[in-house]
Amino acid sequence: MEFPLTVRDFLDRAATVYPERVAVVDEPDQPAASLGTLTYRDVDRLARSQAAALDEMGVPAGARVAVLSQNSARLLVSFFGVSGWGRVLVPVNFRLARPEVDYVLGQSGAEVVFVDPELAHLVAPGPRVRTVVFGDTDDLLWSRAAEPRPWRGDESAPATINYTSGTTSKPKGVVLTHRNLWLNATTFGWHIGLDDNDVYLHTLPMFHANGWGMPYAASAVGVKQVVLRKVDGAETLRRIDSHGVTLLCGAPAVLSAVLDAAQDWDGVVPGHGRVRAVVAGAPPPTRTIERIRDELGWEFIQIYGLTETSPLLTVNRMRTEWRDKPRKQQARLLSRQGVPSLGVRLTTDASGEVLAQANQCMAGYWDMDEQTAAVQDGGWFHTGDGGVLEDGYLTIVDRKKDVIISGGENVSSIEVEDVLSSHPRVREVAVIGIPDQRWGELVTALVVADGAVDEAELLRHCREQLAGYKCPKRIEFRDHLERTPTGKLQKFKLRAPYWEGHGSQVN
Ligand code: AMP
Repeated sequence: MEFPLTVRDFLDRAATVYPERVAVVDEPDQPAASLGTLTYRDVDRLARSQAAALDEMGVPAGARVAVLSQNSARLLVSFFGVSGWGRVLVPVNFRLARPEVDYVLGQSGAEVVFVDPELAHLVAPGPRVRTVVFGDTDDLLWSRAAEPRPWRGDESAPATINYTSGTTSKPKGVVLTHRNLWLNATTFGWHIGLDDNDVYLHTLPMFHANGWGMPYAASAVGVKQVVLRKVDGAETLRRIDSHGVTLLCGAPAVLSAVLDAAQDWDGVVPGHGRVRAVVAGAPPPTRTIERIRDELGWEFIQIYGLTETSPLLTVNRMRTEWRDKPRKQQARLLSRQGVPSLGVRLTTDASGEVLAQANQCMAGYWDMDEQTAAVQDGGWFHTGDGGVLEDGYLTIVDRKKDVIISGGENVSSIEVEDVLSSHPRVREVAVIGIPDQRWGELVTALVVADGAVDEAELLRHCREQLAGYKCPKRIEFRDHLERTPTGKLQKFKLRAPYWEGHGSQVN
């Protein structure tokens, strides 16, 4: 017998097995008013109510429904209320600038947009059924007595579209099916030993690859989920302390912020000997791994993947075989990206690019057939990362794609170059990443100017069109930029002086 695997399964199990359990502790001061503490019965009721409201708006299965929000209980519920009844959830990066949000809403053809009150100014009017500001019409949205129209379930249907900056000048919409998300969530949960004693803190933005699938995985096993609206090292420690958190996920920069805050913490660091920190998004420095283990007393687990792979491809977790090795060596072993997770096949091609085959690999990019065909060439998913496989372990050593990773978020060099080039005083520009201790890599622009223009003016120009984290942190003016005889920028030469002495080409 076969039944479709859909994200509703995760909610249905929670509502059946753990109806009375605390499911979600919302951020206490959400601008839309906190939803407080919800049980899994509440989450199920709210999701059904949201689905029924979409029925009433006449939004059919397959239609895109965007949510633009910082981490919140309302966004968490929408993972089920939208996708669980056949619509496609588009969780939008809340740090984007207005023109970028406009692009995502337009390209995805979102029929309904839910938005946090603090972000409402980013949503321009558009050809859609409705824009709902969280908090404003809550009565309408979350308290429908009516049951939603049944959806028969289709595991190959798109469940979410997540926009990611990559090798094109505009972000691409990664279409993930119910099957993709189901298998990612279950294998992820299994590899990190998720169970119903866990308490999860949402340090990871939920929009980013659907919080790596944790909203689904954690719900299925009745985990208490603590919502954190804004990442802050000290606040993270306080929440771990007061809610008995056992598990969190984040980019290395998030863990660095926690390590900084821990220096000022009086007494034993919260979660000592209890918390598992799952780290990905950029390569964690070995020193950070050592400090997480020694100063915080937390278990360090690394994963590697992409939005396009739902994201889980590899996992690296302390093994019994390493128990007797010195701790420094253990940290070095853990600094590799890891071994394939269950059901993943990995290889590298002649150029060193990492290729993957897995049921977590996306259906394709939304409405971009050419780009989809390119990354799925030969029946393998092309990650754009350069890596080596040794003893089954993958180590990422460089990046084939022109992407900078700053604080765990991808920045497309081309996108930033496009914006800078549109300034009348910019003749030539190259955007590169340079290593930085805190952020991993810093977006840096090398500019050949046509007449007088200063850094402040160029930054102002960028800020109007780009999310803050994409704007250059450093702008250097040059007389000329080195190019090949065919006119291509020689980025590896431009990068070289900044990366001297670094073992690899990613940080
Ligand atoms: P995103 O789609 O925004 O999640 O970004 C995916 C990219 O982040 C990958 O292609 C890698 O370049 C990078 N990445 C993710 N996890 C790791 C990791 N553990 N180590 C090194 N780079 C990583």
